[in-house]
Amino acid sequence: MRADQTIHHLSSILLQTFDKISDFVFFMEVDDSAYRYVFVNEPGKHAIGWTDADVGKSVGDMVPPETAELIIHHYDEAIRARKSIVYEDYRLTDSFYSETLEYQDVMLLPLHYFESEVTPVFNESGACTHIISVVREVTERKRRELELSILRDQHESLRRYSPHGIFVLDPELRVKSINPAVTTITGYGEADFINRSFLDWLPDSEQSLVCEGLQFALSGKPHKYGITAHQKTGAALDLAILNIPIEVGGNITGLFAIIIDHTPEKNAERALQESERRYRQLIETIPEGIIVHKDGIVLYANALALKTIGETDVKGKSIFTYVAVEYHESTKKRLATLQLGDSVQDTEIVLVTPIGQHLHMDLGSLLIDYEGMTAVMTVVRDMTEKREMERALRQSEMQYRLITENMSDLVCILERDGRVRYASPSHQSVLGYAPTFYEGKNTLDFIHPEDVLATRQQLKVMTEGSEPLTLEFRHLHHDGRWIWLETKIQAIYKDATLLHYLTVTREIMQRKVLEKQLKHLAYHDPLTVLPNRRYFLAYLEEALSRIDEDDEELAILSLDIDHFKQINDTLGHDIGDELLRQFSHRLTQTLRKQDIIARFGGDEFSVLIRYTNPSAPDLVAEKLIASLQHPWQIEGHTFTTTSSVGVACYQSAVTIKRLLKQADLALYEAKLNGRNQYVIFQDR
Ligand code: GH3
Ligand code: MG
Repeated sequence: MRADQTIHHLSSILLQTFDKISDFVFFMEVDDSAYRYVFVNEPGKHAIGWTDADVGKSVGDMVPPETAELIIHHYDEAIRARKSIVYEDYRLTDSFYSETLEYQDVMLLPLHYFESEVTPVFNESGACTHIISVVREVTERKRRELELSILRDQHESLRRYSPHGIFVLDPELRVKSINPAVTTITGYGEADFINRSFLDWLPDSEQSLVCEGLQFALSGKPHKYGITAHQKTGAALDLAILNIPIEVGGNITGLFAIIIDHTPEKNAERALQESERRYRQLIETIPEGIIVHKDGIVLYANALALKTIGETDVKGKSIFTYVAVEYHESTKKRLATLQLGDSVQDTEIVLVTPIGQHLHMDLGSLLIDYEGMTAVMTVVRDMTEKREMERALRQSEMQYRLITENMSDLVCILERDGRVRYASPSHQSVLGYAPTFYEGKNTLDFIHPEDVLATRQQLKVMTEGSEPLTLEFRHLHHDGRWIWLETKIQAIYKDATLLHYLTVTREIMQRKVLEKQLKHLAYHDPLTVLPNRRYFLAYLEEALSRIDEDDEELAILSLDIDHFKQINDTLGHDIGDELLRQFSHRLTQTLRKQDIIARFGGDEFSVLIRYTNPSAPDLVAEKLIASLQHPWQIEGHTFTTTSSVGVACYQSAVTIKRLLKQADLALYEAKLNGRNQYVIFQDR
């Protein structure tokens, strides 16, 4: 073989060798105006659809204009630099470089990456004659690089933005790095952690648990557990700790210790538990029965509810076990309404206890959240006693009515505060107001102001065992008069509870008048209507008790008609009586208002005078004797009488008895001296 043949043969082998490599090899001739293809290996041909017929074509003939421009730019660059240059470019998969579409999920864009090494070939005179371009597809490498950078970014994002604290620990459990959340959660900074044991900041009580968790992770198994630690400030932290082994090339090179702060949730949970505890406590202690039920099944009943229905435990039982049959339908309706989210009115139903007792219950129900479920809370109030009382009351009221509507006494039922619940018809005739006028009004408002206090005080002492109380007071009549009433009041109790008062009242006006008359009679002389001896003595006693304080003197004059018996005997007893009346009248006319005149009995009168003028006793006595001598005209008879007077002037330390005696002695002396005269008692 000739030398040039040998070279050709060798170059042909060399070129075939290029066919065997997967890189695309483009061997280009450089002429002034363009780069022309001399040789393209098999993969290159395949990539750009080149055939041997294309020898001598320029780059612009084979590839799209923008690609050609890029390639030519780099070729020019290499020639200018006079050395190999490497550049990268990429093509969409649809591009002519490749027809296979294989890309991984990491790279969603169908890109192919190429790395081209462009080598200029120069002749002896330094001119570039050829370009060798070797193009290698580096898509895989590029993708891996990209994946890695994404992973790195993701990792960094995670590290930086994770709300959880991330510690990176070495196998000796020393902290190598922390993320910002660690500081946020613990309050400690990097300086507090780096190169120190992860256990250092944890409380002693948790160390063994954490140590165990870390060791577990070091053996290759992630591990999660909860602990309580403290912030730098001392505040408690509820943490979940996640230990994850860091495995590189099959070796565990360290650990992640991830701390998840559950403090807020735990606090909320604790607060919830506390409020639930308090709520429980509240519903255990409030004086209402409470039953919580769902779909008719009891979930909870407080102590009072249990006590009311006489059970020790009703959990799990149907509420219909206790609801009286006649209330089943209405109860079901109520529950259905509640389930729809509507509210229901309070209602009254009958419950039947296990021992068959019928209880009248007032119910109020509403929907509540109970241990994570929607349930019905029913507040039950035992109304049995109240209903029973009402029934008893109605019955007794009916009886009262029967009696009272038919009697003239005033009958009232009073509330505990004194308000009138019922007033009988007789109020109209006795007090002038219709009975309905009094209803709802307080009976004390109609009592005379002077009697109210006493009445009120008497009412206060009434108790359950009290006998009926009798009160007397003046009550206002419609026409403005005060009517004396006597009330018998009885407190009506049932089971130690005061229900009301029952009053039976009678008008006592007449009796009061009679009493007044009797009282008058006791102190007055019925014939002359003058005060009597009893009155005079009482008055005298009162006057003498105060005599030392007075400037005035006091004297008693005893008077007696002379020969009165003869009047009776000659003119008759009636005329005698009339004379006594006229005599009294004349005494009253003759004396001053402040003088006290009394008839002591028969024709004997006594007069009490006060005076300052020492001659007053004489003057009064003279005046009386003179006045009483004027003629009397009685039933056609005209006649005169005379009278005798005995005077006793008070001297200190004299008793009433002695003073009266002295007046009598003086009178006796006047009679003895011939009558129609007065004698002043002289102590001799
Ligand atoms: P003397 O001058 O001594 O007083 O004589 P006298 O007649 O007035 O006698 P004396 O005072 O002792 O008697 C009073 C008489 O008055 C006695 C009695 O018959 C009469 N007498 C007493 N009470 C009544 C009365 O209520 N009505 C009438 N008509 N006469 C009475
Ligand atoms: Mg007489």
